[in-house]
Amino acid sequence: EAVRHREALANMVLDTAPEAMLVIDSSGRIVRANRHAHSVFGYEPGSLPGKDVELLVPEQFRAIHRDWRRSFLAEPPSGPYAIPREIAARHSDGTSFPASVSVGTARMGDETFVIISIQDLTARKAAEAASRLHAEVFHHASEGIVVADANGLIVSVNPAFTRITGYESHEVVGKNPRLLASGRQSREFYRTMWSTLHALGSWSGEIWNRNKWGVTYPEWLSISVVKSPDGRISHYVGIFLDISLMKRQEEALHRQAHHDALTGLPNRVLLADRMEQAIEQTRRANKLMAVAYIDLDGFKPVNDRFGHHAGDTLLVELSRRMADTLRGGDTVARLGGDEFVVILQNLADAGECEVALSRLLNEISRPVFLDEAIGSAEVTASIGVSLYPLDNSDPDTLLRHADQAMYLAKEMGRSRYCLWDPDFNRRGLARRGAENEIWAALRDSQFVLFYQPKVNMRHGTLVGAEALIRWNHPDRGLLSPAAFLPLIEDAELEAELGEWVIRTSLAQISRWSAEGNAVPVSVNIAAGHLLRPDFADRLKVLLAEFPHVPPRMLQIEVIETAALEDINQARQTLEACQSLGVGGALDDFGTGYSSLTYLRHLPIDTLKIDQSFIRDLHNNAEDLTIVKGVVILAAGLGRDVLAEGIEKAEHGEVLLSIGCELGQGYRIAPPLPADQFLGWLKTWQPDPSWGKCN
Ligand code: C2E
Ligand code: MG
Ligand code: MG
Repeated sequence: EAVRHREALANMVLDTAPEAMLVIDSSGRIVRANRHAHSVFGYEPGSLPGKDVELLVPEQFRAIHRDWRRSFLAEPPSGPYAIPREIAARHSDGTSFPASVSVGTARMGDETFVIISIQDLTARKAAEAASRLHAEVFHHASEGIVVADANGLIVSVNPAFTRITGYESHEVVGKNPRLLASGRQSREFYRTMWSTLHALGSWSGEIWNRNKWGVTYPEWLSISVVKSPDGRISHYVGIFLDISLMKRQEEALHRQAHHDALTGLPNRVLLADRMEQAIEQTRRANKLMAVAYIDLDGFKPVNDRFGHHAGDTLLVELSRRMADTLRGGDTVARLGGDEFVVILQNLADAGECEVALSRLLNEISRPVFLDEAIGSAEVTASIGVSLYPLDNSDPDTLLRHADQAMYLAKEMGRSRYCLWDPDFNRRGLARRGAENEIWAALRDSQFVLFYQPKVNMRHGTLVGAEALIRWNHPDRGLLSPAAFLPLIEDAELEAELGEWVIRTSLAQISRWSAEGNAVPVSVNIAAGHLLRPDFADRLKVLLAEFPHVPPRMLQIEVIETAALEDINQARQTLEACQSLGVGGALDDFGTGYSSLTYLRHLPIDTLKIDQSFIRDLHNNAEDLTIVKGVVILAAGLGRDVLAEGIEKAEHGEVLLSIGCELGQGYRIAPPLPADQFLGWLKTWQPDPSWGKCN
């Protein structure tokens, strides 16, 4: 009974052992195997005894066993057994698994048994492999990894951490990761980061840190909380990626999307953005902002003649110049082709804007060197401008208005700027309509010249005629110049009409002279026409069309204020006319502010005193003084003087009494159709009272 009891106890001990245990006899047969052994090797309980141990252990073990048996038999060890060894054991399904084996002996009488205890190492091996792998990952990761303890102090960092931050492991272990802070993030940022981390167990985001050398860099950081089984925080693991490169690529992409490839200037997309900002800024600063729409004049011919490469060179150079003329906050953008937009900010007034625009025009019109073969090319620019908040519109509308004004600048003769104003649309449309009508009228010969006699009141003789234009409008009847001349702003049209007047007058002079009448004719010339550099050349061509008309039969009348617009150009032109033999008169004299010096330098023969001084001449002492002064002045400078607007006999009387003999006015004759002129001349008599004046 006791023996059986001991046997049962021994079995129980064997079966509860955490290891697989085999007892084999000296021939290698299994005599005992515990429950664990059966399950580790994959055998039915109780089926192992009687089997050869070689079934379970491979060659390797057999070798060990043999060695052992040899030494054992020679000198059996007393204690338990040899050092555990690692072998590959074989499972009943044929697979092998790592196992650690301890071998010991037990003697029972004559018999020596070998006791083998085997531990399945599969799980441990896997764990080891996993941790080795983890170490590899930690070591070789391209992300920087930092592990901190529950207090947030760094426990370990990987090589990538060192590579990115510059700090060696020993320099940071035990420190707070705060040493990397760049100062770019707010306190609030970190507060949110920590609260998210604690609430959700992880946080990730972009953060700027500073490396050991003081350089800040952006990183993408993920932090996770590691908890121990009892739920307390044991570690924080931070994994981060230096994203400077990504950022740069992102910026490059952004650049591509927002900049013009050729010139590098902002494109339409970015311009819209900048305009929004500029408007906001202008509103806050209580200043003006200008949107200038720039279109190059004469770019296409350069492109067509010299090729796209030359065109590109020109655009790039002009872009650079425009950018250079601008101030800090200003923007120049390219919309495409030869169209640009400039945003000028922080303007105190429109004058400041005009200065900037003049500078732009100047810079653009300077020659651009293209290459050795071609040399240089020149273009100009037409600029349309809208001013915010005078034009209190949204960015799109501001741009559209500037565009419209640009077209007007083109029409006005290019190489200039034109400001948009609220009446612009309406006026622009009305004017453009009228201008088209005037062009058509010119083509259809709807204009006529009337001739108003100019006489010597003392002698009762004709001294000439002034040609005055009328529009024989098919619907509106005979229109006076005031009804249509102010509508003309197109320089081409102005010149075209002016040349028509000159040619028609020359033809009239020629006709009258053919009938034996020498009638000098004066024509009114608009400022814009007179100031054109080619005015005198064109006049010469026109004169050449009438070889029988002596140039001195023609006189040009220039309104005083017009001559003052550009006194130098006016002088040059008038000098050129003079040398052609064509005289000049200063019209509406007294309405401008001619200084005497100017007068002295202007090559004109006649001063025409404006009719506003004549009207009340007979009962306004002030007017009389002025007119007297003008007459003396004219005499002193050797110029003729003629009074306009003589409506009454008294006007002539007063004028004659102060030495002004030449006159023109309704009292003498209204402007007459050409075919009535000679008829009038035959019958005209000066006012009888004038003959009495001495
Ligand atoms: P202006 O050159 O000073 O011409 C004189 C204007 O006074 C003419 O008006 C004429 O009809 C008017 N007038 C003549 N005698 C009297 C008078 O006794 N009393 C009053 N109240 N007026 C008198 P018109 O023909 O309507 O021309 C007005 C202006 O239009 C001209 O002033 C001239 O500056 C301009 N103009 C006329 N014809 C032409 C033209 O062919 N080309 C250009 N560019 N301008 C022209
Ligand atoms: Mg006139
Ligand atoms: Mg006049």
